[in-house]
Amino acid sequence: MSYTLTLQSKKQLTPDVHQYVFDKPEGLSFKPGQATELTILKEGWKDEGRPFTFTSLPDDDHLTFVIKSYFDHDGVTEQLAGLVPGDTVEIEEPFGAITDHGAGVFIAAGAGITPFIPILEKHDAMGDMDCTLIFTNETENDIILRRKWEKMAGLKTFFTVTDEENTSVEEEKVDKSFLEKHLADFDRTFYICGPQGFVDDVRDALLELGAKKDKIVTEEGW
Ligand SMILES: Cc1cc2nc3c(=O)[nH]c(=O)nc-3n(C[C@H](O)[C@H](O)[C@H](O)COP(=O)(O)OP(=O)(O)OC[C@H]3O[C@@H](n4cnc5c(N)ncnc54)[C@H](O)[C@@H]3O)c2cc1C
Repeated sequence: MSYTLTLQSKKQLTPDVHQYVFDKPEGLSFKPGQATELTILKEGWKDEGRPFTFTSLPDDDHLTFVIKSYFDHDGVTEQLAGLVPGDTVEIEEPFGAITDHGAGVFIAAGAGITPFIPILEKHDAMGDMDCTLIFTNETENDIILRRKWEKMAGLKTFFTVTDEENTSVEEEKVDKSFLEKHLADFDRTFYICGPQGFVDDVRDALLELGAKKDKIVTEEGW
């Protein structure tokens, strides 16, 4: 089943990331962390569906997406950045492997933070936040929703950048030594999201450090 959504508003979060707020259609249900295939209903783009994650909570009265645009090529995400309120998109039934498996350590690269937005908000609302967020980006300005994470009670945050010097955050890759330095307990649930190479490398490092395979939650194919 597909649903047509109308854009209500759009807000810039970082130089290349926007938050999009749409009306919520009747009958749509999803779990925090799940994604959908989204198509822009504009001539020339109706056959170009791409996966994006719901960042609102299932009970919210609207739907939001947080989307990084690649302005260096003529793709869907560049087109999305040009949408204005009143424009429409179509989405399909939700899918996705990243769902809430309880408190844990959330490790994200760039737009890979998106499935963690509703999951961490849910834990925050329920008051059972005993979570850690490790969030890597190229530069400090790329850190999506930084203030929100810093303010969340019970969420321990580690921000790190890989393409900038003299910052207020760490300037290291998330690898085995980074994880070993910052985490004491590897018998936890780990969530990883970002480009496939990042997910594979972080998963391998966690396994070497003693994490349990069945306690690592990832989504293939970003
Ligand atoms: C389950 C899932 C959920 C996702 N959720 C989100 C989300 O919530 N938010 C989000 O921002 N992203 C999300 N993504 C990633 C998102 O789907 C991609 O960024 C998007 O499909 C890119 O579409 P596009 O048409 O702009 O690029 P495509 O044309 O589809 O290109 C894909 C990638 O190739 C590269 N590329 C291709 N051609 C060129 C070129 N000529 N020059 C430079 N680079 C090029 C780009 O880096 C781009 O990332 C998700 C992915 C998955 C699998």
